[in-house]
Amino acid sequence: MDVQNIKGIGEETAVQLNEMGISTVLDLMEYLPYRYDDNRLKDLEEVKHDERVTVEGKVHSEPALMFYGRKKSRLTLRLLVGRNLIQVTFFNQPYLKKKINIHDTITVAGKWDKNRQTITAQKYSVGPQTKKGDFEPVYSVKGSMTVNTLRKFIKKAFEEYGDFEQENLPSFLKEKYKLADRQKALYHLHFPESTEDMKQARRRFVYEEFLLFQLKMQMLRKIEREHSKGIQQNYDLMKVKQFIGTLPFPLTNAQKRVVNEISADMKSPYRMNRLLQGDVGSGKTVVAAISLYSSVTAGYQGALMVPTEILAEQHANSLSELLEPAGLTVALLTSSVKGKRRKLLLEKLKQGKIDILIGTHALIQDDVQFERLGLVITDEQHRFGVEQRRVLREKGESPDVLFMTATPIPRTLAITVFGEMDVSIIDEMPAGRKTIETYWAKADMLPRVLSFMEKELANGRQAYVICPLIEESDKLDVQNAIDVHTQLVHHFGERFHVGLMHGRLHPDEKDEVMREFSDNALQVLVSTTVVEVGVNVPNATFMLIYDAERFGLSQLHQLRGRVGRGSEQSYCILLAEPRTDIGKERMKIMTETNDGFVLSEKDLELRGPGDFFGKKQSGLPEFKVADMVHDYRALETARADAQKLVESTSFWEEEDFAHLRAYLQATGVLKGEKLD
Ligand code: ADP
Ligand code: MG
Repeated sequence: MDVQNIKGIGEETAVQLNEMGISTVLDLMEYLPYRYDDNRLKDLEEVKHDERVTVEGKVHSEPALMFYGRKKSRLTLRLLVGRNLIQVTFFNQPYLKKKINIHDTITVAGKWDKNRQTITAQKYSVGPQTKKGDFEPVYSVKGSMTVNTLRKFIKKAFEEYGDFEQENLPSFLKEKYKLADRQKALYHLHFPESTEDMKQARRRFVYEEFLLFQLKMQMLRKIEREHSKGIQQNYDLMKVKQFIGTLPFPLTNAQKRVVNEISADMKSPYRMNRLLQGDVGSGKTVVAAISLYSSVTAGYQGALMVPTEILAEQHANSLSELLEPAGLTVALLTSSVKGKRRKLLLEKLKQGKIDILIGTHALIQDDVQFERLGLVITDEQHRFGVEQRRVLREKGESPDVLFMTATPIPRTLAITVFGEMDVSIIDEMPAGRKTIETYWAKADMLPRVLSFMEKELANGRQAYVICPLIEESDKLDVQNAIDVHTQLVHHFGERFHVGLMHGRLHPDEKDEVMREFSDNALQVLVSTTVVEVGVNVPNATFMLIYDAERFGLSQLHQLRGRVGRGSEQSYCILLAEPRTDIGKERMKIMTETNDGFVLSEKDLELRGPGDFFGKKQSGLPEFKVADMVHDYRALETARADAQKLVESTSFWEEEDFAHLRAYLQATGVLKGEKLD
């Protein structure tokens, strides 16, 4: 029903509302405040610097008015709040001089400057606090629409058409979690009469939003599973166990657990669609090797796709070492395998004479054909586009797919962004690993840092120096990798060789530089973040990161993971001058923990979900009321409920679920047909 049905909304107003995305009465009632101002009076002692606060007090000095600039003014007065005498400043409201008098009691809301004991007033009223409610909703409005008018319309909408808002949650879930009715809760989000009202209203909508979202994800997962018949890989358990027994070390418990999860998927008739997360050095390669081996014992071939040639070579080496003694044929296909050699390799692959093929995106070219592809693994999957992953998946009949990543994704994000995938996590490091000692240094300590670095180099070790960007930018005061390279070449002279690596180099040049570093022909590698992923040079024990405050915690952790890969003690120095408290906290936590999951959770907490993946590719769903980070418990509950719902038969039959079924249809996940 069009908003114009509401008394007082004419054509003109309707156009304005349209611009705010409101065209129907339901839209209007569901147009929610984006925040609430807290009008509760607080004790100033407990309020943090820069926080918004509402206080009530007695005017203690005649308000003083001062004009400056053109048309600018400042009115200041002293206010006695409890036993604190503070200052209140009003900008550009000279008329208040006449309204506020000494000895008046006034209520003021604004920003609290703790250092100067001053409130910059945003709102005020004469007299003691008038109960406008503890929480005052704030809406985003456009054009000449005001919050007050909008609220008037919303109120009218509820009075006349409130019953249009229908319950959509099944009654058993509402009872189970004691959730408020939809209509009532919605009303309370707009017009909270008490803190408790608002809390309950919010709780209901958080759950609703999460349940609907997870219902969609779980439905997609179900469709994906049931409509893509996978292959059932009946691997030889005895052989796999034997193989695990030949490894040079016992598996960690976490490795055992994820191997079991993967095996169960491979054996099932569904196609595996699983994300394997494990911190740098947690031992994902062995897990990959065991899975590939299993697939071969079931009579299939396996493929491993990685983002760079160097990584492909490294993986080919380590997998050959593990798998060839067990009788498997492992081959490497990169863009440098050409001509006759390539032709021969492809022939063998097609005949099934190669068990495991490892490579870059060279693997997904048309002429690369397997005889019986059973398992595809991609390492550092976020480096591949969706399209590349799809092409690889379609190479075989319907191979099982495992995505590996060393970027720890906080659980709450993992089940949102990868909601339709299964997730396995290696959350335990192999025993005896030395932690990387991390220090935070200010710019003026650089000479000392360099002499520390020189000591390591003199001991035969190697070092990375990381710079954020390769070119100078006016806005960002960042180190320039080329400059740093020049400086260090000069600094180390003939004593050590310094190489340079950045994204503008040709791929062949990059490989060449990496190889030189790997062969210890270069002792120092100055690099941008291109060195972030997977590279393994165990002799490198020292890393210096310039402008460390510019990186996210997860990224710093990824970078740091390039050292600490050998038996020697490794060091990571963060050169940073963070200006904010959060910035300082981030540097500090880097020095305190080596746990990627702890860091990623902290990163999420400090920077919010939008920044976590970087703006462009976030793919995060938007929730109106819910907050993925703070409401993660509700998110997990909703996920479990959604999973149960789509698997139950009653979901498809009973009236209680009609609204949810309609929702799935409306979002296009369900196309009319009943699935099972
Ligand atoms: P990542 O998860 O970063 O890919 P890797 O698979 O490269 O880690 O493993 C890092 C190192 O740890 C390798 O040298 C590997 O041999 C070793 N490793 C893996 N699993 C274990 C284990 N269970 N016990 C001891 N060392 C292990
Ligand atoms: Mg790895």
